[in-house]
Amino acid sequence: MAAVKVENKKTIQRKGNLFVISAPSGAGKTTLCQKLIKKMPNMKLSVSYTTREPRKGEVHDVDYTFVTRDTFKKMIDRGEFAEWATVHGNLYGSSIKRIKELNSRGYDIILDIDIHGAIQLRKSYEGAVYIFILPPSLEALEERLVNRRTDTDDIIKNRLDNAKAEISQYTNYDYIIVNDSIDKAYKELESIVRSAGLRTESADHNWIQKIIN
Ligand code: 5GP
Repeated sequence: MAAVKVENKKTIQRKGNLFVISAPSGAGKTTLCQKLIKKMPNMKLSVSYTTREPRKGEVHDVDYTFVTRDTFKKMIDRGEFAEWATVHGNLYGSSIKRIKELNSRGYDIILDIDIHGAIQLRKSYEGAVYIFILPPSLEALEERLVNRRTDTDDIIKNRLDNAKAEISQYTNYDYIIVNDSIDKAYKELESIVRSAGLRTESADHNWIQKIIN
């Protein structure tokens, strides 16, 4: 529960929400998530573990916690992941401990994970909000992957091959955002987040009870 000031200056307690966001590589998900964290102080990204090599500029424990396959497999055996999946040949997973920690401090949490991870979470995190971000076209996706110059041609080809399969899973999500303009897509994402915060289950029931009694 987090303390939130409301207009009449009373402090109410609100429960954090879990937002699961997926998209094919290059659809703009990272940019949108970063913008959300910057604009909404109560929103935190749960940093995933991965066996992928860090890209230029990526920071350990900020972008990902980079671990060896051996470490990752030990974490799977110890049941430390809420979900994990192999994505483009590397292992990625969301730590239960990190989610619980952020949740206990009342934060809204973003999980930026692939479609397989999202399907696993659906079974255990029913109250989570599932959002899928689509590129305006496959051509636009290719252009973005080439322009960001972070991956080799082989990796780009692999990511494009996977994109159609990922997009075909869109019905597992509650909301679809088409990212044809980053500003428009951001506004849509923010309105989903804000309306989730107004759900009855997110309300401070003790505070409402006091009004009734
Ligand atoms: P990238 O290597 O480009 O950062 O991420 C590749 C894909 O892995 C993205 O679709 C991203 O959402 C996904 N991913 C990142 N972290 C996790 C995670 O913890 N679990 C799962 N299942 N996918 C993840």
